[in-house]
Amino acid sequence: ESVIVAIDGPSGTGKSSTSKAVAAKLGLRYLDTGAQYRAITWWMITNGVDVEDAQAVAVAAAKPVIVSGTDPAAPSISVDGLDAAGPIRTQEVTSKVSAVSAVPEVRTLITDLQRSIAAQADGGIVVEGRDIGTTVLPDADLKVFLTASPEARAARRSGELKGADVHATKEALIKRDAADSSRKTSPLAKADDAVEVDTTELTLDQVIECVVTLVEE
Ligand code: C5P
Repeated sequence: ESVIVAIDGPSGTGKSSTSKAVAAKLGLRYLDTGAQYRAITWWMITNGVDVEDAQAVAVAAAKPVIVSGTDPAAPSISVDGLDAAGPIRTQEVTSKVSAVSAVPEVRTLITDLQRSIAAQADGGIVVEGRDIGTTVLPDADLKVFLTASPEARAARRSGELKGADVHATKEALIKRDAADSSRKTSPLAKADDAVEVDTTELTLDQVIECVVTLVEE
């Protein structure tokens, strides 16, 4: 029996840490779909494609070969055989990824890739993103939508970025969530049948415990 768990929500809600830990605890595979959109964005930048030019991005979208490693203990991402784990976390990629991920051709390609990875994951998989429960895997066994106050999200993000300015981080995060929520194709949204978990007052361990319990129910 293969269990599919979809975890969606805006940035800074603890999606990645929670998804990885839940997958590890339950012996499931793990897929970070944001890393795939970051990887294609990194490829566009390094290949001189103007990310504001949706037409150019659409034409180039099928060129990069993106491979995701789904071991929750050591997730990996490569583009054309190059390790992309470091480069996809730069501020430049973070500031450009919403423009690239809004291009319908990009979403179609990445969505197909995500579905094939989920279909091949024996034992099951935890897939985290923005549109997993609504669009990518609408038949998931469990859908979770994580939320948190903007203050909590910015504080967590600047903690991760070590010394980054909390105010600037909050502004950038709100801007990215607004772009992700307002795009026409598969915007960031809670599925009707998703369980919403507000993580503002919860520790990471509490969120993990909560999701594990939901899977086991
Ligand atoms: O999760 P992360 O912050 O790494 O995601 C980076 C970006 O990738 C998001 O801001 C969004 O633009 C895009 N994304 C998406 N759909 C997903 C996952 C991520 O559009 N399922």
